[in-house]
Amino acid sequence: MISARTGQNNKTNDDPTGPDRGNDFIREAIDEDLKTGRFDHVHTRFPPEPNGYLHIGHAKAVWINYGIARDYDGKFNLRFDDTNPTKEEEEYVESIIEDVRWLGADWEDRLCFASDYFAQMYEYAVDLIQKGKAYVDDLTAEEIREYRGTLTEPGKESPYRGRPIEENLDLFERMKNGEFPDGARVLRAKIDMASPNLNLRDPVIYRILHAPHHRTGDTWCIYPMYDWAHGLEDSIEGVTHSLCSLEFENHRPLYDWFLDALGIYHPRQIEFARLNMTHTVLSKRWLGPLAQEGYVSGWDDPRMPTLSGLRRRGYTPEAIRAFLGRAGIAKTDSIVDVQLLEHCVREHLNKTAPRVMAVLRPLKVVIDNYPDDREEELDAVNNPEDASAGTRKVPFSKVLYIEQEDFMEDPPKKFYRLAPGREVRLRYAYFVTCVDVVKSEKGEVIELHCTYDPETRGGDAPDGRKVKSTLHWVSAKHALEAEVRLYDHLFTKENPMEEEDYRAAFNPASLEVLSPCYVEPSLRDAAPGYRCQFERLGYFCVDSDSTGDKLVLNRTVTLRDEWAKIQKQQQKRK
Ligand code: ATP
Ligand code: MG
Repeated sequence: MISARTGQNNKTNDDPTGPDRGNDFIREAIDEDLKTGRFDHVHTRFPPEPNGYLHIGHAKAVWINYGIARDYDGKFNLRFDDTNPTKEEEEYVESIIEDVRWLGADWEDRLCFASDYFAQMYEYAVDLIQKGKAYVDDLTAEEIREYRGTLTEPGKESPYRGRPIEENLDLFERMKNGEFPDGARVLRAKIDMASPNLNLRDPVIYRILHAPHHRTGDTWCIYPMYDWAHGLEDSIEGVTHSLCSLEFENHRPLYDWFLDALGIYHPRQIEFARLNMTHTVLSKRWLGPLAQEGYVSGWDDPRMPTLSGLRRRGYTPEAIRAFLGRAGIAKTDSIVDVQLLEHCVREHLNKTAPRVMAVLRPLKVVIDNYPDDREEELDAVNNPEDASAGTRKVPFSKVLYIEQEDFMEDPPKKFYRLAPGREVRLRYAYFVTCVDVVKSEKGEVIELHCTYDPETRGGDAPDGRKVKSTLHWVSAKHALEAEVRLYDHLFTKENPMEEEDYRAAFNPASLEVLSPCYVEPSLRDAAPGYRCQFERLGYFCVDSDSTGDKLVLNRTVTLRDEWAKIQKQQQKRK
């Protein structure tokens, strides 16, 4: 079942940056810990692996961890879980730092890297061997898998499990010194090969890997496994509450075992449900191939649910935070409707984005009775929701563009826009009446001729007569040419993972490029990232592909379209 659920214990206010800190189950658990004295402060972290770009699911984890640290006057670390040298890159580290900062989380001076603890982790492993709780195993990776058993069958103990401590210490040191090739040996924790929790069946904690690391270079040729490293990192940093997504629930007993076996500081782990959203996928594992295989232009393609994609598309951090607040924090998985995210960005941009006129599918209009060489500037309101945004001047002249869909030669009932003989208002300008239609040889309407009423300057008739619609327009002579990119859902299916291969649900119509479009000259100096509302069309954002002489804009989200609604209702009635 897919629902735009809002979660059970979610906060009551829309913007989680607000003063009401809510009382989700995590905060309830922390309140309890502070009351009982289990902890006397709060310290959280966001621990991304730098093997891809952050997506909006990560934003949820960032905002839970950061939001809680902030609410409890605690500390928040940004820590890179960089234990796998083969998949990790500096590019990802940089993008993650940028994204977390953009979202609004502040780690102060606590930017941490798991790789800084490699020496400490090695010492901990030696300690485990000395305690008889870890051993060097010579089985191959395949044999280890076979010996592991299944959910219904217990595993089998490795013949190397009983190796004497001294031998283990010697072999482990030689592993570290680079005496053995990749895959020759591993270090395993000695726990329980019959445990019903497969994570506890003597997990591998170190592997040999002669690969340079993006931070430690060639210092190490053995690397800690994620499960071994993860809990240790939290312990080393003094994290009080390790807040993570549900899939780590059955790893918790293993993290507990490591910390108890070593007798070191023990954070409390609490799990929450991952964020899932309709018409997209939220995993680096699935997003990466879309970028690499050319379905989209890259991790930051504006269709991607990555933070860099959403930013490029025109989303604001405020909108994303409001969305996360409304989606809530829950203990069970659910899928949130992407329309909730769209709603949140509309709501924020409605208050903040300046209005601009732009024509996406231009139809030329000549005002026959307007003097050829006359130009004037008309006053336009920048934001009706925000008086302080003021007004601007919009140039008007004899030749204009309007939207093709704002004219119909033979209009059906309820189509109130321009038609032969009909009068409409040009926003901020004049009433105009269509007097002639020019068509191409193929019969397409290519130009309209209108007359204007000079008495209606500013958009009102002194005699009080009314028109049924107001159109946006741009002056052909003054307009800037632009390419406009319209986006639709990345996937046609609500849940693409239901397909055998999720790529089969990729939406080939997810990008539509319109060019040339014409926008009002006030956008001349708009830099990439500049957001505005194109009146009657939606919210748009200047793209980084823009150059000195070519403006490129992304549609962030549409406005609600009343006409489309009516059309839909009519179709239903048919
Ligand atoms: P992915 O599946 O995208 O690779 P991941 O969990 O492997 O995600 P990490 O870099 O390990 O990626 O994630 C860092 C943190 O973000 C983890 O603690 C994880 O719990 C959290 N996280 C990842 N995806 C989501 C999600 N969809 N919703 C909530 N939290 C998430
Ligand atoms: Mg991961």
